[in-house]
Amino acid sequence: MKLREIKEFIQGKDDEALFSEGEKLREKLFGKEVYLRGVVEFSNICKEKCLYCGLRCQNSELKRYRLNFDEIMESVELVKKSKIGTVVLQSGNDPHYTEEFIEKIIKKIREKYGNTIAITLSLGERSYDELKRWKDAGANRYLLKVETFDEELYRKMRPGRELKERLKLIEILMKLGYEVGSGVIVGLPGMTDEILANDILELSLLGLHMIASGPFIPHNKTPLYDYSCGDLTKSLRTIALLRILNPYSNIPSTSAMASLEKDARVQGLIVGANVIMPSVTPLKVRKLYNIYPGKNESDSSTLEDVNKIKEIISSAGFIPSESIGNYKKKN
Ligand code: SAM
Ligand code: SF4
Repeated sequence: MKLREIKEFIQGKDDEALFSEGEKLREKLFGKEVYLRGVVEFSNICKEKCLYCGLRCQNSELKRYRLNFDEIMESVELVKKSKIGTVVLQSGNDPHYTEEFIEKIIKKIREKYGNTIAITLSLGERSYDELKRWKDAGANRYLLKVETFDEELYRKMRPGRELKERLKLIEILMKLGYEVGSGVIVGLPGMTDEILANDILELSLLGLHMIASGPFIPHNKTPLYDYSCGDLTKSLRTIALLRILNPYSNIPSTSAMASLEKDARVQGLIVGANVIMPSVTPLKVRKLYNIYPGKNESDSSTLEDVNKIKEIISSAGFIPSESIGNYKKKN
């Protein structure tokens, strides 16, 4: 698909055809199965200043937390108990967690559960040596969203950071043999349809194993508090386009979708997504992982929460999967 056509679809050229093609491809490659990823958000401390994110270091009103080794392992245990096949270890860019510490966690997970669980890391920008050591220790996947491929917008949104550094890391992760995930934020302030269309195209040229596209949700303690949310229909169009351009990749229907509208995650599954990523962060700190409003608001226990999400998936006619959920390989 050419850039012009992607832009036309983003602008609503033919939603019926777009959504039904996304659905058809998801159905063909993944059937009704929905892979689950249990996300352990182990620290909300971040040294970065991303304009969109509630965890940015300049948000002095947020109470900060760090989970210790045992607390992280308890959360991983809950992922296993919930019959979820992948654990995602996610945090702000928090240098407190050293190369050795993360390696120790990965090795412990492998020692306890062998290869019955996939380990995804989502720790932001880290060095080649760290990424290599964690891969060697048994990590399977790494998530690093580019957020946008527009250099100017990127610089504005992530002060002090350069797009090419992020892209270089994606290349390194691929070379190290990770399954690599990236993605964009739909409707970042300043993102035109042209930029979004180009983002979708660029993402699809990277050969990614996972691609996430959640809508922008303004956080009242960030400089972007006054902007509007990303558009739900455009977010759905983005999912469908990503499925069409990347039929074999894992595509989540993100929790940011659910912040826009209660059943939006199901709508995302229908038009092409095949992954849901519930938080399994301990209740005592869960609400503090406040990237955007509406995230992690539940007061229920992790097991109750996961069961609720499984029920939502089932009652929409999908099957919550217990599998590790690797991307599909082309035959
Ligand atoms: N610190 C790591 C990083 O930035 O890669 C991982 C954690 S970060 C909170 C995970 C993702 O949250 C980011 O990649 C970004 O896409 C998303 N995010 C942050 N603020 C957001 C917002 N206001 N609306 C939608 N997504 C947001
Ligand atoms: Fe930090 Fe990630 Fe939030 Fe940026 S998006 S402020 S790197 S947690």
